[in-house]
Amino acid sequence: MRNHAKPSTGQGLRVLKPDDEFQFDCHKGLNCFTQCCRNINIFLTPYDILRMKNALGISSEQFLKEYTHTFIAENGLPAVSLKMADDEARSCPFVSPDGCRIYEDRPWSCRIYPLQPESTQSTEKSGKEFYSIMDIPFCLGFQENKTSTVRQWLAEQGIPIYMEMEPYFKKITLNPFLKDKVIENPKIQQMYYMACYDLDRFRRFVFDSSFLNQFETDPEEIEQIKEDDVALYKFAMKWLEYGLIGQRAFKVRPEVMATKKQALGLK
Ligand code: SF4
Ligand code: SF4
Repeated sequence: MRNHAKPSTGQGLRVLKPDDEFQFDCHKGLNCFTQCCRNINIFLTPYDILRMKNALGISSEQFLKEYTHTFIAENGLPAVSLKMADDEARSCPFVSPDGCRIYEDRPWSCRIYPLQPESTQSTEKSGKEFYSIMDIPFCLGFQENKTSTVRQWLAEQGIPIYMEMEPYFKKITLNPFLKDKVIENPKIQQMYYMACYDLDRFRRFVFDSSFLNQFETDPEEIEQIKEDDVALYKFAMKWLEYGLIGQRAFKVRPEVMATKKQALGLK
């Protein structure tokens, strides 16, 4: 998510459906080029972090340490935003005179501008998509002649894979089980942070702890998550479904269960 100034586009406040058109373009020839990469708040999703740390060729730990701030959201769960530079303009650490240094892997919110998804519970349920247009006062992109449908713009900006990945995370964050709850247990907060944002550490948790002895797992999936970060991300979200939401996404091995029962004096 990216916080910009108030909408001021000359295209008015319109709700757009996927096949509706809007006028906008962004390119290096514009006087405003990269001005929007300063003094902004960019909240990062787990998939954003996965892509960005791999683009930079660094671990999730290093990425989180060097490039992010962590804060606790209203529901008590940690959230992550991109750390802007200490310069006067609060520049994004990835901006250069030629544009974004990680353009192919830039965060979702940088891709989707000037569109903004308008999602409500009923649109989520019906699977229908609606968007509004937002802009920043100095953005000259709306004066360009290019016209696209919402669908075309999303495809051009590489949004579909982000839309495919987001539901795994939303299944946790929007779960009715967490509604009106505030998580205060630091161990749960840390587990959530690791599973969502610190994937390389989560991988070590799976392989270096007693995890695989405790739970029944699919050997093929376990082989896959050794190397494949997307598979690991899906596995991590499944782990949160089990650990945070209490769903049966994992099953404790019968022998582990039997030992636990025995220790508790249960038959
Ligand atoms: S056109 Fe808008 S989005 Fe593109 S560089 Fe200029 S301010 Fe940023
Ligand atoms: S990540 Fe790239 S596109 Fe996004 S604000 Fe930074 S430089 Fe701009």
